[in-house]
Amino acid sequence: MASATDSRYGQKEPSDQNFDYMFKILIIGNSSVGKTSFLFRYADDSFTPAFVSTVGIDFKVKTIYRNDKRIKLQIWDTAGQERYRTITTAYYRGAMGFILMYDITNEESFNAVQDWSTQIKTYSWDNAQVLLVGNKCDMEDERVVSSERGRQLADHLGFEFFEASAKDNINVKQTFERLVDVICEKMSESLDTADPAVTGAKQGPQLTDQQAPPHQDCAC
Ligand code: GDP
Ligand code: MG
Repeated sequence: MASATDSRYGQKEPSDQNFDYMFKILIIGNSSVGKTSFLFRYADDSFTPAFVSTVGIDFKVKTIYRNDKRIKLQIWDTAGQERYRTITTAYYRGAMGFILMYDITNEESFNAVQDWSTQIKTYSWDNAQVLLVGNKCDMEDERVVSSERGRQLADHLGFEFFEASAKDNINVKQTFERLVDVICEKMSESLDTADPAVTGAKQGPQLTDQQAPPHQDCAC
């Protein structure tokens, strides 16, 4: 059944009108590492073992409470384009956070992390935050990438690191919450130092502050 959070179904739920910030988050990484499964697990708490080709879904929305703020997450999943390991630059525009994913049972997906990181650095906002996620940690018997290698690569790239499983629901929520916290930390740092990338908002993503009273079309 269609979920009310699917982008295809444009009607907003009432709770969607009410938020302090909106963050656009992208999940990237090689095809079949589990990006769509990870998003479904987080947004809908569901898991489908069959391969579901990513066609027709652009993003899902979830509103969470963090640091006394209502934060609306618009989480984008790549629609099959990741097969070419390059994604249209428009997709990166305005993203404040990335979940860069590989599969711990697939060496090639791990080797591709560097390329994905270069894509992020090339096309995204300078202050965008990245978390490296080694997915499918439930498949210990088929593991080919050790946790240590994952951690070392994350350190090298300057990203935080999690191992996770969309299937067994391990570290999924934690990954998103940590990413939101890192974005919030960066945001307050930038505001403190009056970083024009944020305060001038010339090219950076807009922090949508919904505290202003809604526009009313009054007929009287
Ligand atoms: P995407 O191409 O990156 O979006 O990957 P999918 O989400 O479509 O997943 C590819 C395959 O991996 C599917 O068969 C999923 O059921 C499976 N999969 C995804 N996440 C996990 C996981 O955490 N553990 C296991 N064992 N399988 C997973
Ligand atoms: Mg997919």
